Amino acid sequence: MIVVAHEDDHAFELDEAALERILLQEHVRDLNVVVVSVAGAFRKGKSFLLDFMLRFMYNKMSSSWLGGHEEPLTGFTWRGGCERETTGILAWSEVFVVDKPDGSKVAVLLIDTQGAFDSQSTIKDCATLFALSTMTSSVQVYNLSQNVQEDDLQHLQVCVLVCITLMFLIRDWSYPYEHPYGLEGGKSFLEKRLQVKQNQHEELQNVRKHIHSCFSNIGCFLLPHPGLKVATNPNFDGRLADIDDDFKMELVSLVPILLSPENLVEKEIGGSKVTCRDLVQYFKAYMKIYQGEELPHPKSMLQATAEANNLAAVAGAKEIYNKGMEQMCGGDKPYMAADQLERGHNDLRKVAVKHFCSVKKMGGEDFCRRYQEQLEAELDEAFGNFVKHNDGKNIFYAARTPATLFAVMFA
Ligand code: GDP
Ligand code: MG
Repeated sequence: MIVVAHEDDHAFELDEAALERILLQEHVRDLNVVVVSVAGAFRKGKSFLLDFMLRFMYNKMSSSWLGGHEEPLTGFTWRGGCERETTGILAWSEVFVVDKPDGSKVAVLLIDTQGAFDSQSTIKDCATLFALSTMTSSVQVYNLSQNVQEDDLQHLQVCVLVCITLMFLIRDWSYPYEHPYGLEGGKSFLEKRLQVKQNQHEELQNVRKHIHSCFSNIGCFLLPHPGLKVATNPNFDGRLADIDDDFKMELVSLVPILLSPENLVEKEIGGSKVTCRDLVQYFKAYMKIYQGEELPHPKSMLQATAEANNLAAVAGAKEIYNKGMEQMCGGDKPYMAADQLERGHNDLRKVAVKHFCSVKKMGGEDFCRRYQEQLEAELDEAFGNFVKHNDGKNIFYAARTPATLFAVMFA
């Protein structure tokens, strides 16, 4: 499902309805979310890889998850040719619920991000998309062909400190004798590539320092070429029989590194875990700043993070309040005496505000206080509606209360 689409005029549109349909499904919305994103230029095998990741998720991580020999590969659409495709962010509409070894349940969202990393006019767009998917994911797989170029690194400049694992994935790696395929070879390759050297140009040094300071965890995986049928045969349908053994072997080690229950990384912002419901807020907040003309300044990205972070805490607190009030005086509950209702409201209001305060938030005290005030105002407004609703349940009764009778008699 497309959640962020790229319009002709280079503006990005967030499809809020689609995003909410995915993330606010009842069985996932309150679970901590794991967002695994694969991003990079088009025609580099991202969707192809994502479809194997889907197989892993659907086959419940069984040892034969890779699938049947003659089975066509389906899921995110992938195809050959060199025609351009639309750019944007796609989310798989099924959110997977996974039990972690510690007994907790998490929701796993898979995301495909495609930018046109190819021409000057779209550099801003592609940096924007890349930043957007990075800021909203917990693991960003940066899909690159053959090597890591200097401008591949520059795309990472737009990210700010976020608790994210960044995994460089190098496709068609052709120097296994220098650095062997897989994670170990990737590690030694990347160390060399990200090294800050004294004689390097200052700009190159800065990019590297920035990357090291931004990501909590950086890895690299070297994937072999999948074979000529995959790369060039127009009738290739993704079946394993047509894929080189080397590639399949490395795939079997790569996908569990990203997706097996013990390796799943929950999305965290400002020290708090993020639920599916919260993630909707973050998408909206980041979208807002990326829609501007200029590439967002790191400061405004931190600001947006703090804003979304506070809004998510407000939403969580309101949910607690509303649930409690519904239980007490919802549509199917009988009329309540006004003072009893108000007491219930006061108690729940305290619980909700306490929840808001207990969530770790970014932006500083004054900033957070504004959101607390907003929360309090919204709770009082909601209370107003509950009162009206409650009164509406029993106009007849209300008309017969002694106070009203008294008023009528002496009118
Ligand atoms: P995307 O645009 O990055 O999502 O790329 P696709 O997944 O649609 O794949 C584009 C083409 O590359 C298809 O024809 C695939 O068969 C082929 N392909 C998939 N993986 C690889 C790979 O690792 N190396 C090469 N050379 N081609 C690949
Ligand atoms: Mg694709």
